[in-house]
Amino acid sequence: MSETPMKLVVVGAAGRMGQTLIRTIAAMEGVVLHAAVERSGSPFVGKDAGELAGLGPNGVIIGDDPLAAFLHGEGVLDFTSPAATVNFAGLAAQARIVHVVGTTGCSAEEDEKIKAAGRHARVVKSGNMSLGVNLLGVLTEQAARALPGSDWDIEVLEMHHKHKVDAPSGTALLLGEAAARGRGIDLAGHSVRSRDGHTGARPKGTIGFATLRGGSVIGEHSVLIAGEGEIVTLSHSAGDRSIFARGAISAALWARDKKPGFYSMLDVLGLSS
Ligand code: NAD
Repeated sequence: MSETPMKLVVVGAAGRMGQTLIRTIAAMEGVVLHAAVERSGSPFVGKDAGELAGLGPNGVIIGDDPLAAFLHGEGVLDFTSPAATVNFAGLAAQARIVHVVGTTGCSAEEDEKIKAAGRHARVVKSGNMSLGVNLLGVLTEQAARALPGSDWDIEVLEMHHKHKVDAPSGTALLLGEAAARGRGIDLAGHSVRSRDGHTGARPKGTIGFATLRGGSVIGEHSVLIAGEGEIVTLSHSAGDRSIFARGAISAALWARDKKPGFYSMLDVLGLSS
């Protein structure tokens, strides 16, 4: 691995995750903030990224031209919105730099476009970048495999802050996918995303989701596996957004010398089976 610090671009630099990424880059070895980008028209374009993130001025002025920022960078950290991420995927592939995607709520079509960029670029995408949640996914898969769907019902419960715009969360879906893998079923064909009114009894073998929103909660997730007379609960609490930022930066460093491809945090953390 090269010894010069990896030059990272933060897109969505004024967002909750963008500001956390800027603070975390400053605190981590082996990386440097190369550029910061916001959407055109954002009141934060032209402001100092370090000052905005509460670090004091660092001389990186927030711009609105992603390609110019990517051209001399080595990796882009992207926690923005699905449409913006699809656009950044094309630009990152064009600039041949690493693209770490934390954005959630992408449609199947948007996911396909982001995946396609992995033919030319190194893309790491995950609905949750923390070590703890990725380990929880592995444990969920094992538990779902060990506890058969004929007798055990799986429910994924999540809570996030009131500003979150997509549901279920990317993490809840990641955990649902892990449970479906453990059961050897396809999540799309077995998930129950909402219940209201006279729903009838719970269909066997389904994976249910329940979504709570409120306050400033960063992310609470539980997988409940309910059997006759007992419940197994696996859970994770995020107390600080820096867990996602550290994971995203580690993913960029990991991908630095990899071949083009579409990777997940399980690959980065060595947890893929
Ligand atoms: P936020 O709304 O605070 O920040 C998003 C930022 O992106 C905003 O500042 C917005 O102006 C900017 N943006 C939007 N379009 C842009 C464009 N075209 N160019 C440049 N900037 C653009 O949201 P947040 O809480 O920081 O979350 C962002 C995303 O990350 C969400 O999808 C969220 O679910 C996801 N997230 C993922 C993880 C993970 O570990 N994968 C963790 C936390 C949040």
